Amino acid sequence: MRPLLVPFFISHQGCPHRCVFCNQVRVAGAAGTLPTPAQLLHRIEEYHLGAPARQLEVAFYGGSFTAMPRRDQEGLLLPLQPLLRAGALQSVRLSTRPDAVDPDTARFLKRHGVATVELGVQSLHAEVLELSGRGHGADEVERSVAVLKEAGIEVGIQLMPGLPGDTPQRALASLRRALDLKPAFLRIYPTLVIEGTELARRYREGSYRPLDLPQAVTLCKEMLEAAGRAGIPVIRFGLQPTSELDSPGVVLAGPYHPAFGQLVESELCFDRMCDLLDGVPAGSRVSFGAPPGRVSDLVGQRRANLHRLAARYGVTASVSEEHDLAPDVISLTWDELRRHARLFEPHSRH
Ligand code: SF4
Repeated sequence: MRPLLVPFFISHQGCPHRCVFCNQVRVAGAAGTLPTPAQLLHRIEEYHLGAPARQLEVAFYGGSFTAMPRRDQEGLLLPLQPLLRAGALQSVRLSTRPDAVDPDTARFLKRHGVATVELGVQSLHAEVLELSGRGHGADEVERSVAVLKEAGIEVGIQLMPGLPGDTPQRALASLRRALDLKPAFLRIYPTLVIEGTELARRYREGSYRPLDLPQAVTLCKEMLEAAGRAGIPVIRFGLQPTSELDSPGVVLAGPYHPAFGQLVESELCFDRMCDLLDGVPAGSRVSFGAPPGRVSDLVGQRRANLHRLAARYGVTASVSEEHDLAPDVISLTWDELRRHARLFEPHSRH
């Protein structure tokens, strides 16, 4: 079982940059100071009491952890050391910028129990990085991944399709470069226009337009397919809804949806269901099999996939769970016919 995350948002701390899309206060829902040792230990204790049987992992999100002064990093990591030594805390994960990692930093993190670093890569296209005010290029990404892996730290990569200068082709090329770096996982956050950011200013003056929801779902589906073929999990699509993000006037534009990830998974399932229906005549009743936990992805939100299959193929479809299916396989049963498709392999035939 995966450890239970004990999250701390460290906001804009330590970051000298101002990426065009970033307003960490609004995204992370927290501003200002770093947690004190007492606050750290108190929250960990709360999580332990709430789930005494679970292993715990502290996660420092937001900001750029390793861009903070070393004494601030120590201020967060040193109080955790007795818990790590005693086994009361399994590990630590944090997020940072690719250009804020060097071999000494990576060794420091490893020594202090950091098992996973998530790099805010966003894009690996030079012009997109430039137009987004990232302040580093793609080379720094490749270097930082190598340095972290060398120190024995697991690396996750965050990507943001839809940044200024980005296109679906560039986003997919960035993804391919990211996959070549063999991260342990990806997070994909289609760009949103958040109030108070440079992007909001550009959006208002008409020089930037984000992806809309259908465009983002289609692009992310292709990214999911490519990542799946490479065997690299996408552990999150789209920003986690928060009360701050949901407040009126915070997200000005862009593909914000509280269940964005499910839209993407459902879209991928829809493609494979279409593949499986090849040659099945209109008027047929068909049954799709879903691996455990995937029925709702096949059905779609408000049964959207079943309605679309009826409109496109004239079939009446139902979905049921099949426990013996592998997690990435779906099935079709129609009369005597039984077919299977792998979710990440387009147009595969039975
Ligand atoms: S590096 Fe991260 S925290 Fe800093 S401005 Fe960019 S996105 Fe925000």
